[in-house]
Amino acid sequence: MSKAVRVRFAPSPTGPLHIGGVRTALFNYLFAKKHNGVFYLRIEDTDQNRFVPGAEQYIFEALDWLGIAPSETVGKNEKFGPYRQSERKDLYKQYADQLINSGWAYYAFDTSEALDFHRKQHEEQGKTFIYNWHNREKLDTSLVISAAETEKRIASGEAYVVRFKTPVDQTLHLHDIIRGDISFETNLLDDKVLFKSDGMPTYHLANIVDDHLMETSHVIRGEEWLPSMPLHSLLYKAFGWEAPEFAHLPLILKPIGNGKLSKRDGDKLGFPVFPLEWKSEEGVSSGYRENGFFPEAVINFLALLGWNDGTDQELFSLEELVEKFDLNRVHKAGAKFDPDKNKWFNHQYLQKQSDESLAELFKKDLLNRSTSTALSVTDVKLIRIVSLIKERANFVSEFWELSNFFFEAPTSYDEKAAKNWKEDTPRTMQELISVLENISDFTSATIETDVKDWMTQNEIGMGKVMQPFRLSLVGALKGPHLFDIVELIGKEETIKRLQTAISTL
Ligand code: GLU
Repeated sequence: MSKAVRVRFAPSPTGPLHIGGVRTALFNYLFAKKHNGVFYLRIEDTDQNRFVPGAEQYIFEALDWLGIAPSETVGKNEKFGPYRQSERKDLYKQYADQLINSGWAYYAFDTSEALDFHRKQHEEQGKTFIYNWHNREKLDTSLVISAAETEKRIASGEAYVVRFKTPVDQTLHLHDIIRGDISFETNLLDDKVLFKSDGMPTYHLANIVDDHLMETSHVIRGEEWLPSMPLHSLLYKAFGWEAPEFAHLPLILKPIGNGKLSKRDGDKLGFPVFPLEWKSEEGVSSGYRENGFFPEAVINFLALLGWNDGTDQELFSLEELVEKFDLNRVHKAGAKFDPDKNKWFNHQYLQKQSDESLAELFKKDLLNRSTSTALSVTDVKLIRIVSLIKERANFVSEFWELSNFFFEAPTSYDEKAAKNWKEDTPRTMQELISVLENISDFTSATIETDVKDWMTQNEIGMGKVMQPFRLSLVGALKGPHLFDIVELIGKEETIKRLQTAISTL
């Protein structure tokens, strides 16, 4: 790689950042870090009609949470600032003028009524109206009137747009790092609007000018931008600028069926498609953060949407991803989004957390549930409980369901399990109480030895004791190692629960 690597994430703040956008940001981040380059973020807000308050802040917060913040952006190392296109407004007109002067662009004065008329007329004939090489000389443009006339109309305040004059009859041979060589026929392109008389550039002009001025070396973006690639490469040519290299990332596909992953898929199947929660007039869209995902897990599953390192390895830290990431290993084909696999990733990252930090998170969760008995438990005990149940959990929010019996006596008993409560069970449980009463070192191992000794000596089968014992303590036949539960609940509470079971079951 000859040029210094400078890559960008260039979102338009038109709503919450979709998980696909986050994947684009991540791949740019990884590529930059891998090549000791710069990952910067530019806000593309030239379309004021689509401006959504809060969306920009959301983007920054999401990338911060994930640990992939850009090193240059609005308010941060503004080496090529401003990084918000709306604040660069005055800069673009000269570039539109440059293209007009060099014959790469022209003024078009067609009113929206006139354009509607053309569209309708075409529709009636079963055709689609495309503003292009074929008809641009039949339309209301500077190509067919004198320069003086054009100037007069502009000076009189008539509304216009500047359109790109796509060359005719050319085949463009372009290269994409992921897709290889691709060719495009210029005759199939329309003459895109680059600039409007209100002084605002469109996405295409602003994007190319800024990528150039901000010294972008590689454009890494979603596949939906592939159709813009011929225009963009022509714009570089028109300006006489060296084009960056392009890499178009594969689409993220629905978990079931065909097509692009949408917000509706998330709503339907109950998983988030946004990194953070987003509240708007239309309601609340859930976020990975608020759903209890660890940012590391989100990074890990996003990295594998369209990329792998060529081995079966699935768990990667961010540092490892930086080391191993390679655009040449990004697939062309769309990547299926698998919400269950995402939970698996979270499960893995949950196991990696220390019991201490999980206990802290659990405490917060308990506060929200205002379960007073649980909150009175000591930290040491809570850490122990967490260590016993975490392997069954994907999320901290599942801890309560997996551990409530440590804090509260069961209020009911699982019906199916209660069938194992036989006629002689109360007597056996009563004897068990006596055994427990005599244990002074009330720790899991000692309790287990003493209880098992008593069972052997009296020839009592495992099933006769263990199942009813567990049922009495937990209310169901679930939970971690029984004697760990007994130790943590303590002698007094264990005996109390056994007595309750004897009198109720
Ligand atoms: N502003 C565009 C977007 O919203 C950027 C596309 C590009 O990366 O060129 O995704």
